[in-house]
Amino acid sequence: TLIILDITEKNERERLRREFTANVSHELKTPLTSISGNAEIIKNGIVKPEDVPHFAENIYKEAGRLISLVNDIIKLSKLDEGGGEITKEPVDLSEIASEVSESLRAQAERRAISSEIHTEKAVIMGIRPILTEMIYNLWENAIKYNKEGGKLYVDIANECQDGRKFVKFSIRDTGIGIPSADLERIFERFYRVDKSHSKEIGGTGLGLSIVKHGARLHGAEITVKSEIDKGSTFIIQFPKEA
Ligand code: ADP
Repeated sequence: TLIILDITEKNERERLRREFTANVSHELKTPLTSISGNAEIIKNGIVKPEDVPHFAENIYKEAGRLISLVNDIIKLSKLDEGGGEITKEPVDLSEIASEVSESLRAQAERRAISSEIHTEKAVIMGIRPILTEMIYNLWENAIKYNKEGGKLYVDIANECQDGRKFVKFSIRDTGIGIPSADLERIFERFYRVDKSHSKEIGGTGLGLSIVKHGARLHGAEITVKSEIDKGSTFIIQFPKEA
């Protein structure tokens, strides 16, 4: 039975890989087709000179999407290759949170999102760039899927359960929320609740799969709670020593 189980797992992994490749091709093709179409219109001289900036803007935006997609795909494939082999070091999550808060400040201000952050020194054994990426993705989502003028709360605290030490990272927004039917699936690669809205605000559909992968590398557990129109809470519980 052990061998059968092994094969099943291998087949499942292969199926997921094939599915991922097909999705990647599709996701890359859409912006490329649009870039090619816009460029062709300009090239053929059908466009009035004053309309050229509009088509150029489309090309620029779609090229930006392509770059985000390729960057996320590279991050995921690095994680797939076992980012876990990198040696872990002591990382203070409150330090990462203030870095992330700083780099997303302008984006939050543009949507008039105010942040309330409660942290204490919270050190875990982890992989710094991956932890930064995870916290960045969750934080950016809490801004993107918030409402104009909404709020965002971040809490980082040391905890102890059954004699084991954890750091609990939690981020809550007062945004649009996630339908309960979709909650299970948002961590899948390319899964988006509202495809057009996500694309509009520059989402690749890969952010949360990077979070999930990163959590696995740290032996951490993710919990999500959400209520439509009220907001969402993502909690990650990191063991201090993974
Ligand atoms: P994306 O690049 O589309 O943001 P993610 O993998 O980060 O991709 O998230 C997947 C989907 O989960 C999003 O498209 C969105 O529909 C939903 N989602 C993620 N975070 C939130 C949130 N804080 N509030 C509401 N919906 C969210």
